Amino acid sequence: MLKNRPENNPTSSPESSEKLHYAIGLDLGGTNLKGGLVDSSGHLHIALTEPAPRNPSDFTAVTGPFLKKLGANHEIGAIGIGCKGVVDPKTTKVMFSPGDLKQLEGHSLREMMGVGAAGKSVHTDNDARTALIAEWLWGAAKGCQDVLMLTLGTGIGGAMLVQGQIMRGSHGAAGHIGHMTINPYGPMCICGNYGCIETVFSARSIEAEAYSARHRRVQSVLTDRAHASDCSQVFQAAAESDEVAAWIIDRAVMHLGAALASLVHLVDPEMIILGGQIAEAGPQLIEPLRVELHRRTRFIIGTDIPIVLPRIPSHAGVIGAAGLAFLETGIVQG
Ligand SMILES: [Zn+2]
Repeated sequence: MLKNRPENNPTSSPESSEKLHYAIGLDLGGTNLKGGLVDSSGHLHIALTEPAPRNPSDFTAVTGPFLKKLGANHEIGAIGIGCKGVVDPKTTKVMFSPGDLKQLEGHSLREMMGVGAAGKSVHTDNDARTALIAEWLWGAAKGCQDVLMLTLGTGIGGAMLVQGQIMRGSHGAAGHIGHMTINPYGPMCICGNYGCIETVFSARSIEAEAYSARHRRVQSVLTDRAHASDCSQVFQAAAESDEVAAWIIDRAVMHLGAALASLVHLVDPEMIILGGQIAEAGPQLIEPLRVELHRRTRFIIGTDIPIVLPRIPSHAGVIGAAGLAFLETGIVQG
């Protein structure tokens, strides 16, 4: 068990009298690169944000000053990076990252950081895994052994903790829950597969359904608006009993419930954590999802699996990336 982990919230001041260690956490998403100085109790001391670099030379240019500022007043032994897509934890190479970070594919994050990372141990992983690490070390999943985490946003990210181990798989791709096939005849996904859960439950797919309804000119507030609705507006319209919006959300939730039922039968987790912008819908999402999941797992599992929101309030990506560095260097144990 972790010795220097406090029982309190990670944003509160650490109470442990044991020596604190410091790591830099970097969270590389499609829009922003976030960085933070984090101590071994999960406490964030400094946070920085810049637009995400789109190519290797920009990455070097942005991370250089980042590392200098974050490490100015503390001894930094390790750097952790959470990155969207598939990253090789051994080489720190970005293997597959479609979309905004495409130009970083094939490049080592450690090497791109240049002299700023010299003498420090650098650890990388997928950003959904680092989000789960934050919750495992300091948040909702503290002390757990078997946990599923989904980040519900533009797409779906996923990570799995199984028998106390973060699952990476033989190609670094384990836990890409968004690319579970939910309908073999479904539409093509960004990953090249067809009918992935991400094609029916994600901000993009919900917005695409809303656009489709609008294009068919069906009677709905989604059609009446001057501009196309974003995902949160579709949820809002569903909560206000708009029939089309409610149909879109009910259908998406049913599909997510079916996907979770498959995962629950596979992993048998203690809890499921839902992060990302769509999870901010809270009970409007979680309650029908709980009913759908229970209905589909009632015989073999036979009990409600808690579906909870993340407990790390903000900068979870940065805190989780630093958590990865602490785990990999043995400073903190899960
Ligand atoms: Zn896919």
